Amino acid sequence: SLEQGPEGPETPIQVVLRVRPMSAAELRRGEQSALHCSGTRTLQVSPPGGGPDVAFRFGAVLDGARTQEDVFQACRVRRLGELALRGFSCTVFTFGQTGSGKTYTLTGPPPQGEGMPVSPSLAGIMQRTFAWLLERVQHLGAPVTLRASYLEIYNEQVHDLLSLGSPRPLPVRWNKSRGFYVEQLRVVEFGSLEALMELLQMGLSRRRSSAHTLNQASSRSHALLTLYISRPASQKVPPVDPGEPPVGGKLCFVDLAGSEKVAATGSRGELMVEANNINRSLLALGHCISLLLDPQRKQSHIPFRDSKLTKLLADSLGGRGVTLMVACVSPSAQCLPETLSTLRYASRAQ
Ligand code: ADP
Ligand code: MG
Repeated sequence: SLEQGPEGPETPIQVVLRVRPMSAAELRRGEQSALHCSGTRTLQVSPPGGGPDVAFRFGAVLDGARTQEDVFQACRVRRLGELALRGFSCTVFTFGQTGSGKTYTLTGPPPQGEGMPVSPSLAGIMQRTFAWLLERVQHLGAPVTLRASYLEIYNEQVHDLLSLGSPRPLPVRWNKSRGFYVEQLRVVEFGSLEALMELLQMGLSRRRSSAHTLNQASSRSHALLTLYISRPASQKVPPVDPGEPPVGGKLCFVDLAGSEKVAATGSRGELMVEANNINRSLLALGHCISLLLDPQRKQSHIPFRDSKLTKLLADSLGGRGVTLMVACVSPSAQCLPETLSTLRYASRAQ
């Protein structure tokens, strides 16, 4: 069933694959699908020139007919939320080439215009998790402080998407008690779903309207929305086992930059620097994940310091966390080279 997957924090990375539907443009161009799902965990890839299918297995495979609610269920995000309430650092990230559905999966489609709100049925993983978390916290009845931050990593520079002042890059620092953190990042306390949605909208609209977004560069930045959950020690939910970490959980949602290769974008000069910085983060992420998963190298040094992204995800990827990767792909045969590289990256992460 779709509910299969790791049961506890001892399995640090869960990988789900989402194939989006063919887009209107792909259909208009008469492109063929190169992918089909077989069962709920296997993807079959048909090479366009014929030849045998290649199969990839993931924690769950979701085809273009699956709804946003199906994806939320299959990803078992509530389980991550429960862990975050118990003090773990959890991360959900979407990975894939530009146009594969990363943003759609996390936050749903953009609004069509003023006064045309997006239907709740199209809400993404983030809004669904927010609603669940607020309800859960209310149900627990314990005093919980919820705070949020929202930042973008662009060209290896961190920008605060919630800052009230003029935008400038913020340094990433490390200390023993906090681990890696962004200095002077605005962290906003919120008490209601509405207040959190406002923060999300503020960040999303800044992402969409910032100067570099105008030339499609939102696909070249990583966006991280983090929820910080804290409560007085006396009020904590009884831990499942005594080895669990203390209060102070985190839930982080990461919309990664497009994973397409530099060559495919024909980048030169400044764009090349950007592309290298994107690849640096994505390669560093892949590298850290593969070292973390390699049982032989469990004790070895994990190079979180290699990129801003891996620094900021270190606690989720490392000892105290659980990570969910949603790999996103287009079904079109035209995208197959990039799709295969996404599938390989995702396969290596499990
Ligand atoms: P990315 O963030 O990976 O660049 P987007 O999320 O912006 O990709 O998706 C590209 C386009 O495809 C958008 O117009 C989006 O609304 C649409 N899209 C993506 N996934 C789906 C889906 N599962 N169902 C319907 N439309 C989708
Ligand atoms: Mg996007």
